[in-house]
This record gives sequence, structure tokens and C-alpha cells, in this order.
Amino acid sequence: MDARRLEYLTGLGVSAWELRKPPGHPVGAPTQHGELEGDLEPLRQRVAECTRCPLHASRTQTVFGVGSATAQLLIIGEAPGAEEDRQGEPFVGRAGQLLNAMLAAIGLTRDEVYIANILKCRPPGNRDPKPEEAEACSGFLTAQIRAIRPRLILAVGRIAAQWLLRSDAPLGRLRGRLHHYGADQTPLLVTYHPAYLLRSPAQKRRAWEDLCQVRQLLDDNSS
Ligand code: URA
Repeated sequence: MDARRLEYLTGLGVSAWELRKPPGHPVGAPTQHGELEGDLEPLRQRVAECTRCPLHASRTQTVFGVGSATAQLLIIGEAPGAEEDRQGEPFVGRAGQLLNAMLAAIGLTRDEVYIANILKCRPPGNRDPKPEEAEACSGFLTAQIRAIRPRLILAVGRIAAQWLLRSDAPLGRLRGRLHHYGADQTPLLVTYHPAYLLRSPAQKRRAWEDLCQVRQLLDDNSS
């Protein structure tokens, strides 16, 4: 077990745990749609030039997404924060470090998954996205999902989960069960936002249950 995974598990109070199947499954490996790598690039350019909502005026840069264009797991967060706005990459602040550790705990790296947000521009002061901003940005996320064609979407946090599922149910009611998203009915799970877990570490145990479900679904799908 590598050090980061051990650290995350120790933080959760889990003292001994082994993967149900060893890592080395084909997450991130080229699939029948492996040639789609290039399809995200024109989209990235369109996002970079976007002025569809007022957030374009206050951004440093757009935050398109990062990871493997053929990822089996697509992680969707809410919106860039200050650090993401500065660096142009999602989940690079403290929450991002925890997200990396959560991925490591189930044998995944950032490079093997794809990470994107509902919004591609930072809302000032890190306020919640407005529905009209999410609506204006939604075509980009839909296009990302179509290009990547993930086997599983993990919505992190209430905002992403409620938006994707068109629900106003609390996160506690959305996590712990399998949903399906969009025209392709892509399987979708919900878990806590890492920023919330930093404030409420007691919920890490529940997050761990969610991560185990992610791992299990990817394993079930890998044959
Ligand atoms: N929180 C998010 O939801 N997304 C990021 O990219 C960073 C923090």
C-alpha cells in the first residue's frame, strides 16, 4: 500500500485495508474511443474565449478540466476557487490535495481520471454558482462528457450533485445510491466535497464508503 493511501486511510481511522482487486485495471487506458483525445482541445479553446455569462469579466483564466480524455471516472466539482483561477486547473488548492488523497486511497491518480467543474470560471468570493451561470456553462460540460464517455461520474459536493441530478434533495440523501445521468444514462455517484470534508472530518468515514462504491463499480465494469 503506498504512503498516500495509507495516510488517507489512517486519517479515516481505517487501520488495515486492501483493494478488493489489485490496481492495474485499465482505468485511463485507451478504449474504443481512445482517439477522442483531440476532441477536447477545440472545446477548451471555446471555453477560453467564452463570454456567455458575466463571470468572464472577473476571471483570471478559465478552468477547463484536467486528466485523461479516455478516463473511466469523471469527477465533477462545483467551480474554480482562487487557486484554480490562478493556475487554470481544477482542484489544486487544499481541497484538491484531499481529492488527490481520496483518489489515491482507491488506487487512482489525477492523470487516470478526468476532473472538471460545473462552472469554468470562478464566482467572485467563492460564492455558490447562480443557476443562470450553470445554465450558460452547461453545454461545455455536456460536450466534455460526450467526448470522454466515462463509465462513471462522481459528483463531489451538493452544488454539483443537485445540478447534475436536477434535485434539491440534501447531499446526505443523494449519496449512497446509484443515479444515472443524461441521454447515455451514465452511472453517477455522489460524495461529499473535499472542502466540506476539511471542515467536517467526521464525515470522512461516509466519504470512504462512497469511494469504495466507486472502486467497486469501476472493477465491476472493467471486464
Ligand atoms: N472546488 C471545486 O468544486 N472545484 C475546484 O476546482 C476547486 C474547488
